[in-house]
Amino acid sequence: MIRHLQFASARALKEYLEVKAPANAYYSSAYYDTPSAPDMVGKGWQGADLVFDIDADHIPTACKADHDTWRCLDCGAAGRGFPPAACPKCGMKKLETETWVCEECLKVAKEEAFKLIDDFMIPDFGVSQKEIEICFSGHRGYHLHILDERLRRLGSDGRREVADYVRGVGLDPRDHGFREIAREGAFLGPDMRDGGWRGRIARAIYAYISKCTEDQLRQVVKSAAVADTICRNRAKFLENIASDPPFWGGIKGYSLESVVRIALAAAAENACAIDERVTLDVKRLIRHPNTLHGKTALRAVRLDYSELESFDPLRSAVAFRGGSIKVYVKGMPRVRIGDHEAGPASSVEMEVPKAFGLYLICKGAAEPRS
Ligand SMILES: [Zn+2]
Ligand SMILES: [Zn+2]
Repeated sequence: MIRHLQFASARALKEYLEVKAPANAYYSSAYYDTPSAPDMVGKGWQGADLVFDIDADHIPTACKADHDTWRCLDCGAAGRGFPPAACPKCGMKKLETETWVCEECLKVAKEEAFKLIDDFMIPDFGVSQKEIEICFSGHRGYHLHILDERLRRLGSDGRREVADYVRGVGLDPRDHGFREIAREGAFLGPDMRDGGWRGRIARAIYAYISKCTEDQLRQVVKSAAVADTICRNRAKFLENIASDPPFWGGIKGYSLESVVRIALAAAAENACAIDERVTLDVKRLIRHPNTLHGKTALRAVRLDYSELESFDPLRSAVAFRGGSIKVYVKGMPRVRIGDHEAGPASSVEMEVPKAFGLYLICKGAAEPRS
């Protein structure tokens, strides 16, 4: 790591990168008086952008069973898919993982980015579209930078509040409009048109009750009788909570407690899967846009909000276009880069488009052959 560098112009930075050609280039999310000072005190911290990291690695997707494997370093047990928190055989936590990212992973990461922007940053935090900088990281996901000067001076504690809010950590539906009223068993609840988590919880319950099976509901409310009551009165229940004002307690046979349980289960889908460590950090190193990612040879791409929908990272972030390369593949799942698709394959030599070959080499899954 070569750190504490400061450049007077974009041109000076470009010249430096051309000469040094590092495998990875990062910049700090922080603003300093003297960025080149060798210690943090001397730098004079002025503030930092609020940053969110959405990484497909942190989101359990079904496709991980196709391309990810894990192995316990203690007993050798192995499996496919999202790694368990501890080895299911011996209980130890030292697991070696081999992870890949596919179109499905990147699609889910993009959906999370949209959720963060459209459901949280714009409506709840009052951030405007043009204050949100979006970057494809060059590997597994997206970075979002909120370029709002009001947020720059936020310390770690404030950033934790923001991270917890979007992750739905410590969410208690009783703080969001649900409360018992004098009459026994009767209660009030939030309106789907409310802002923030209030409206989100109400909409989440509506969506959940619209599509859940009685079996799923029974597991959530932990009562066969309550699940039966709600499912038998499903249309009425939905009509009541969608009415203006909403009416939550109109059906006999369930309590506020069961609705709170449904709220928590339903709200989980509305929370954002961000890597909170990145958001808490007031001086995070972030991959520099338009540089290559050393593990993929893909470009970190800066995007406008309007470009995100149609952005195909495995095509648009390809830096090496044209030409081919011969590689010896040690092992890989099915991989697509640009228009080229291959795998699963192992212990085989193949000639592939340059970007595809470099991707495998950078991932450590192949070696160049002449
Ligand atoms: Zn084990
Ligand atoms: Zn995947």
